[in-house]
Amino acid sequence: AKQAGRDNFQFFSEDMNARVLARLTIENGLRHALERGEFAIYYQPQVALADARLTGLEALLRWHAADGTVVPPDRFVPIAEESGLIVPIGEWALREACRQARRWRDAGLATVPVALNLSAVQFHRAEIATVLHDALWESGLEPRHIALEVTESTLMDADVAAATLEQLHELGVALAIDDFGTGYSNLGYLKRFPIDRLKIDRSFVRDIVTDPNDAAIVCAVIRLAHTLGLRVVAEGVETVEQLDFLRRQGCDEAQGYLFSPPLPEAAVTALLQDGGFG
Ligand code: C2E
Ligand code: CA
Ligand code: CA
Ligand code: CA
Repeated sequence: AKQAGRDNFQFFSEDMNARVLARLTIENGLRHALERGEFAIYYQPQVALADARLTGLEALLRWHAADGTVVPPDRFVPIAEESGLIVPIGEWALREACRQARRWRDAGLATVPVALNLSAVQFHRAEIATVLHDALWESGLEPRHIALEVTESTLMDADVAAATLEQLHELGVALAIDDFGTGYSNLGYLKRFPIDRLKIDRSFVRDIVTDPNDAAIVCAVIRLAHTLGLRVVAEGVETVEQLDFLRRQGCDEAQGYLFSPPLPEAAVTALLQDGGFG
């Protein structure tokens, strides 16, 4: 028993060491990733359910690390947030997306907004309205070409959130609440915030066809949004059955592998030249 206990302990501690090491490796890699040009932005189409028209492009970070691996954002964004590195990385993403949107606009292609994910750290500490203003100014891009997505948990302190959202709104960009339904929700705030869209989290969309609880939640969110004059976007739509359900319930837009995965810039350009999904 004693032997087994020691083995267990060793197994556990080796596992821990491996995880701590992996985390440190990512954090160290992140410190040089910007200067080495290792980030790219992929863009995932957002589509109107009524007529399959393209309504937006969500900018999603991709990190091609020095060792040749592609590290998914779920693995490095939380570490970038804890270390504060998300501030310069997020700023880079914003500038890069503005430059790209300007190129598509100049080519007469995209008139739909590019939506950026703002981390809570950026939202609360990096004079985000000034950063956004400068990025728009430098790229010569009209604000209506940019949208920002913030999660519910970012908006927990409603007074602070309302003030910052108001500044961003005054710049003329569109605002969306991301992963709606997964965070602590004080529904009262929704009325106070100058937001345009709610994005229903993928975890609710996944089983809408088979799970009556998820179906009920999605229907309630769609009705709530419409009552407040907001548009609703469903994330993670993968099947025609999910699409049919969402359409019947009056959901406005969808995003997911059924339409397209996130695409590199060149593929989006080709899609735009083809006239989208219409
Ligand atoms: P998110 O904002 O909820 O983004 C949607 C995620 O769902 C993306 O994962 C997207 O690739 C994935 N997805 C889209 N359609 C489908 C589908 O039909 N099925 C499935 N299974 N997944 C789908 P991704 O690109 O790995 O990003 C993960 C998260 O990382 C994002 O979740 C966002 O929270 C964060 N993130 C990505 N880029 C940035 C960024 O520039 N800044 C910040 N702060 N966070 C970012
Ligand atoms: Ca998002
Ligand atoms: Ca989500
Ligand atoms: Ca998320």
